[in-house]
Amino acid sequence: MDNNENVFTNREITVTYAPRCCVNAGLCANQLSNVFRSSVIPWIDLEGAQTDVIIKQINKCPSGALKYHLNKKEVA
Ligand code: SF4
Repeated sequence: MDNNENVFTNREITVTYAPRCCVNAGLCANQLSNVFRSSVIPWIDLEGAQTDVIIKQINKCPSGALKYHLNKKEVA
């Protein structure tokens, strides 16, 4: 099934974006524009803020279009 989902990752978290769920309120881009960029591709840059800040912003997404999960730590 193609749900047109976008996936982004840094070393700590993986973020998914489901554009069909997005209500385009612009909350993420307005409040954390270094990460959620409206005019650049790829539009999510997980290097733009610390992971805890990104997680707090994702938790504010009103539609559930943005989700995240913690990456498993690599075993040395
Ligand atoms: S906060 Fe969520 S619903 Fe709002 S623009 Fe961003 S992804 Fe879309």
